[in-house]
Amino acid sequence: MPTYLETGRTHQIRVHFSYIGHPLAGDDLYGGTRCDIGRQALHCGQLSFTDPITGEEVTVRAELPDDIKSIIKSDKQEEKKMERIASFSVDHTKFGVGMYISRIDGDVISYDVRMVKPNGGVYVSNPSLHTIEHLFATYARNSEFTDKIVYVGPMGCRTGFYFLTRDTMSKEDAIKLVKDAFEFISKYDEAIPGCTAEECGNYLEHDLESAKKDVLPLLKKLDGYTPEMLDYAWHADK
Ligand SMILES: [Zn+2]
Repeated sequence: MPTYLETGRTHQIRVHFSYIGHPLAGDDLYGGTRCDIGRQALHCGQLSFTDPITGEEVTVRAELPDDIKSIIKSDKQEEKKMERIASFSVDHTKFGVGMYISRIDGDVISYDVRMVKPNGGVYVSNPSLHTIEHLFATYARNSEFTDKIVYVGPMGCRTGFYFLTRDTMSKEDAIKLVKDAFEFISKYDEAIPGCTAEECGNYLEHDLESAKKDVLPLLKKLDGYTPEMLDYAWHADK
């Protein structure tokens, strides 16, 4: 949207757009999100001034940069949005601590192992998440199901873990494995496996004490958890 400034005050455009309920994309200081662009989507396209030496009127123009062009809505982008992965299309405000199937791709089942409520204001710290990752992965890899486990890794939102298995692993066994792994972590008192500079990308960032506490809410929740409860829809009806 073109805007024309009468004066050049700081934040003028950003504050005014925010005030009318349409903050600039990427302007997280005034309520915009950084989902589409990592900076304020604000671009000076034309500037005119009087040259102080020659007295001539000078006008310079600059084309929209590519990152802003790419977020301007087009039909193509609407289509792209439709292809968002299944996990993002689940309303994350509706579900709390628990274990859920987020997607199935061929013979791979992806479970969301949710340790805290999404957008609940409390998240697992990075050091704790890191320690749980090492212990969870170690436990899973050493279990009888090792050949059926595809991946264990932390969610970037710090609310839990992704746990991917082959569909040859039953849902009952998947629940049991996560439960047993978290039980194992809650009682763990030895050196964290893989915790050296050679084996880990950030071996100093660990926190076993927090990890032992952070696994408890889900551990409690998984008591009596049934395969039907892995379906988000089951919880939506409740
Ligand atoms: Zn590590």
